[in-house]
Order: sequence, then C-alpha cells, then structure tokens
Amino acid sequence: MAAQRARPVRVLVDMDGVLADFEAGLLRGFLRRFPGEPHVPLEQRRGFLASEQYRALRPDLAFTPGQERSGECPPTLRDHHPPRPSSLRSPGLGSLMETSPGLHLLEARPGPRTLLLQDKVASVYEAPGFFLDLEPIPGALEALREMNAMPDTEVFICSSPLLKFDHCVGEKYRWVERHLGPQFVERIILTRDKTVVLGDLLIDDKDTIQGLEETPSWEHILFTCCHNQHLALPPSRRRLLSWSDNWREIIESKRAAV
Ligand SMILES: [Mg+2]
Repeated sequence: MAAQRARPVRVLVDMDGVLADFEAGLLRGFLRRFPGEPHVPLEQRRGFLASEQYRALRPDLAFTPGQERSGECPPTLRDHHPPRPSSLRSPGLGSLMETSPGLHLLEARPGPRTLLLQDKVASVYEAPGFFLDLEPIPGALEALREMNAMPDTEVFICSSPLLKFDHCVGEKYRWVERHLGPQFVERIILTRDKTVVLGDLLIDDKDTIQGLEETPSWEHILFTCCHNQHLALPPSRRRLLSWSDNWREIIESKRAAV
C-alpha cells in the first residue's frame, strides 16, 4: 500500500504589525493630527495596545476600552476635563459622533451634564484611509508571495478588525488587493477570535492570543514588533525576528508533524 501523502502545511499570517506597519502609521498619524501632544516613540513602545501606553502618558489621550459604551467618565479624565456648565447634548450630536473618529460622549458626573471628548489615539486609527495607507512591513510582500508558491503550503491572511469596523474592514481588503493582488483577497480571514481558526502556524505580533479555544491547532510564532521586542519568551515559544529571518525553516519544521 502506498504511503499516505502528508497534507499541506497551513500558515496563518496576521496583518497589522506583520504585513502592514500599524505602529508606524499610528505614530505618523498622531504626530500629524496632534503635533503639540506628548507621544510614544516607537523605540519606547511596550505592550500590544498603543492606547494603553498613551493613556498612561496622559489619561485623556486614549480611553479605556468599553468606556465610550459605558458613558462613564473616569475620575482621571474628569480632572483633565472639568464639567461644563450646560449640557452639550443636541439633536445633531449623534450624527457628529458617528462621522467623527474617536469622538465619544461621556458623562462627566451622574446627571444631565455631558462632555464630548475625543479619544485622540482612536481618532487616528478610526479615520478613513488609515488602514489603506499603511506601509508594508519590509520583506512581507515578497515573503508572502514566495510562501504561497511553495509546494504543499497553504497561506491565509488572518486579521482581527476593529470593533469600530466602518473603514477598517473594507480597507483591509483593499490593502491586500493593492499590495498582493486578487488571489490573496481570496485568502483573507477576518475574525475577532483566531483560536477557532484551523492552521499549523500563526505568525502574529500579539504576544498573547486567547479565545474560545483553549488549545488552538496552530503554533503561535511571535513576529517581532516594536511593542514586543523586549519580551522574554519561554524556551518552548519561537519568534520570527523579521521577514529576513528564517521563516522557511519554521514552515519546514512543521512538515514532519502534519
Ligand atoms: Mg498584529
């Protein structure tokens, strides 16, 4: 009987921080929009979420996730934005908030007084054109094309869109079409939970990836980015330092296992 042929190795490749340079785009956009505000240089970035580091720098630069939905302004923000004497509520406010990236209505105090505050960091990445205009990470496009042409290798782009998805989702598709062509548009998986996607490898710059599946099928290869380069990984975990690093060897190491 003929030996059973091994199945292809399936590689899931993250988008922001791996294919598209989110961090450089965010800093560039922030400096352009808010030239007088403090910022975090890329060499000082720590932690996956830039908004957390900006919030630590000054609380009104970026809000706590979910805060805009709770409508409650935390004490730290009240200090920076004392309540105004009259309500800012007006009939046109809803549409203004929908069309203005980063704008949120927050209760400065319990009661009718409200503040219209702008999450400055979110206003950069929620703006139209932000995702479409991100620069490719050096070597990423060439690596992905080469990987896709390798025999017995399946490549998918696996990305988590923003919850405020209005521009992000369409622009991710357009970015892939623009930089990699229509054959890669067929390979896009957008999901907020990557643990439920089947694969052998996930190349991703997020240091901890969690979801409904406690033991995902893939091995997470941490792609080095400014925010994770200082992390010490346990010996069992592998890194890809850049697209000049040996990604081919990582794929080959999986062939015996499939
Ligand atoms: Mg990423």
